Amino acid sequence: IHIDVMDGHFVPNITMGPDVVKSVRKFTKKIFDVHLMIDPVMKYIPEFVNSGSDIITIHHEIDECVTDAIKLIKKYDRKVGISVKPSTPAKVIEKYIDDVDLILIMTVEPGFGGQSFMYDQIEKIEKVKYLIGERKIDIEVDGGIDIDTAKEVVKAGADILVSGSTIFKCNNYNQIIRDLRG
Ligand code: ZN
Repeated sequence: IHIDVMDGHFVPNITMGPDVVKSVRKFTKKIFDVHLMIDPVMKYIPEFVNSGSDIITIHHEIDECVTDAIKLIKKYDRKVGISVKPSTPAKVIEKYIDDVDLILIMTVEPGFGGQSFMYDQIEKIEKVKYLIGERKIDIEVDGGIDIDTAKEVVKAGADILVSGSTIFKCNNYNQIIRDLRG
C-alpha cells in the first residue's frame, strides 16, 4: 500500500501525515510503502517509523542531506527508497545505489493525482535498471499507471507499480488490480 505524503512545500499539495498512516495501520498488516514528498524530512522520519511505515522513500531533490536521511531510516531498521522527479537524470542515483532497497521513478510531476504518464521517463527506467545490475533493488514507478502504461514500464524493468486514480475510479478494485498485474 503506497502512501503519498505531501507537505505543500516540497510539492504544491498537502495530503496526510503520520497520524493518518497510524490510523490506517490498524486495519491491515500489508506493507506500508510511504513516499515522503516533504522537505524538511529528517525531523519527521521518527514519526513515520512510529506510525507503522515499512518502507520509507525520500526525494533526491530535497535541500536536506539525503545521505543523512537514508542513514536515519536505516538506523530505525526500515527499508529505504530514493525517489527522483521527472526532470532529474538517472545518473544521480549512483551515489545512493549501495544504500537503498528501492528506487522510485516519478512518471508525473509529483504533487497531484490523476496526471498523464510521461513517456519520456521510460528511458530513465531502463537506465536505472542497468545501473542496478545484480543488486537486489526494486524499481518502483509512480504516476499515470493504467493498463497500457503498466505494460510499458514492466517491459522497461519496473518491479513495483503504483496506481491510484486508475484503481479508484473503477468499480471493481479486485478486477482492475488483476488487470494491472497483467
Ligand atoms: Zn508516490
